[in-house]
Amino acid sequence: MNGSKRVLVIGGGIGGIQASLDLADGGVEVILVEREPSIGGRMIQTDRTFPTLDCSSCVLTPKMVEVSLHRRINLLSLSEVVEVIKEGGGFRVKIRKNPRYVDEEKCTSCGRCAQVCVLAGRIPKEFDEGMGRRGAIFLPFPQAVPQKYLIDPESCLKLKKGRCKKGPPCVDACEVGAINFDDKPRLLQYQVDAILIATGFDLFDPIGKPELGYGRYPEVITSLELERLMAPNGPTGGEIRLGDFHPRSFFFIQCVGSRDRTVGAPFCSRVCCMYTAKHAYIVKERVEGAVVYVSYIDVRAHGKGYEEFYRRLQDLGVYYLRGVPGEVYKDAKGLIVRVEDQFSAQVREVATDMVVLACGIRPRRGMEKFFSSLGIETDDYGFIKTDPMTPFKTNIPGVFACGVVTGPKDIPDSVASASCAALACVEYIS
Ligand SMILES: Cc1cc2nc3c(=O)[nH]c(=O)nc-3n(C[C@H](O)[C@H](O)[C@H](O)COP(=O)(O)OP(=O)(O)OC[C@H]3O[C@@H](n4cnc5c(N)ncnc54)[C@H](O)[C@@H]3O)c2cc1C
Ligand code: SF4
Ligand code: SF4
Repeated sequence: MNGSKRVLVIGGGIGGIQASLDLADGGVEVILVEREPSIGGRMIQTDRTFPTLDCSSCVLTPKMVEVSLHRRINLLSLSEVVEVIKEGGGFRVKIRKNPRYVDEEKCTSCGRCAQVCVLAGRIPKEFDEGMGRRGAIFLPFPQAVPQKYLIDPESCLKLKKGRCKKGPPCVDACEVGAINFDDKPRLLQYQVDAILIATGFDLFDPIGKPELGYGRYPEVITSLELERLMAPNGPTGGEIRLGDFHPRSFFFIQCVGSRDRTVGAPFCSRVCCMYTAKHAYIVKERVEGAVVYVSYIDVRAHGKGYEEFYRRLQDLGVYYLRGVPGEVYKDAKGLIVRVEDQFSAQVREVATDMVVLACGIRPRRGMEKFFSSLGIETDDYGFIKTDPMTPFKTNIPGVFACGVVTGPKDIPDSVASASCAALACVEYIS
């Protein structure tokens, strides 16, 4: 492959990571643009992956490091594409690199600044879905790539011209002088031969189903929040508890905001049945004597080894209950889930310590403007439209897509779509 060929990859989740590595290994120069301070996407937030129960960080971190070390990949974190103009056979792209306020070249990631930050442990940590705490200067999570600290300008008391205005302790603590409060956004321009979109997904906000009690009862949490509670690098070090409260019984509700016309999402999110099965398994494994219920519409265990995994759960004594819960409320016994058991045609009220909502997949918010500026067609729900025979191609020549941005997928399918999209890109540019 001619080394001068260049592809812009937007989004550094497992899809964008795999596509970037395949392209770069194939001789293509890659500009990988990630909006967040680190690559990794949703997968790096999860504890383990179904059905093999591999540790997610152990699988993904080596790939993330490989991205940062690859000589043909230019990783731009905290960055967004602001303009794309079709030019000649390719595209001219403008990228805004947002300020980190810490010099990436100088920061050794020693962490001294974070220890002395006057706001240390006071700000909800995004990576832990708000359940952990960080300071105004922080590393997003221990395995972050790039392995560089950053300052959150919304909180930092120097940037807000507050208490740290005169003598910020973080600056005194940083021996290499990496902190730079005058950092500004930078506009970068590149000429690229093709574009690969891998911006992933958002999750349904369960506030949209008030009857399920999310936001009203602290013991009603989302599946992603449970992932953070289960993860060894999470706020509880992997212990499933909320503060000092150790739940012993769990009720998992599948299809929250999926296959549900009342919230405009008649489609299946394709991963919730299996990640709920994974959660039920891990709970059984870690919480002695745990009582576990799962409510479902039907169980879709379509992948390799998935049906066998689901069967194992039933052997472990997980109660699968067919029905859609109508209400979660609290009385003297704790949380109660009211659900019609469709097999016995009886309404049941199940008392439980914790309710976990398997929230459905949604297109990434805020991408509509970008897609329409490029003329990219989306489906009725906002996922990028693709042809069944070429599920990695958009309607615009030279613009490809992979991962969940084209529709719900699990990790193996996201990886497969990424490799296909990378190959299609190479074919197009050569
Ligand atoms: C609770 C939960 C548990 C799961 N467990 C499993 C499991 O055990 N096994 C399994 O196979 N699957 C699991 N999944 C599914 C898995 O998370 C997805 O298949 C996978 O994350 C898809 O990767 P992706 O790269 O397409 O998207 P994402 O992981 O969403 O990554 C997209 C990336 O793009 C970045 N981005 C977004 N917008 C922009 C922009 N405008 N500019 C630049 N960058 C941008 C994001 O910051 C992110 O880094 C789970 C999902 C959930 C919600
Ligand atoms: S200036 Fe103050 S608030 Fe800001 S990062 Fe440094 S110590 Fe924290
Ligand atoms: S003290 Fe300086 S070098 Fe160490 S992590 Fe903070 S910014 Fe980086």
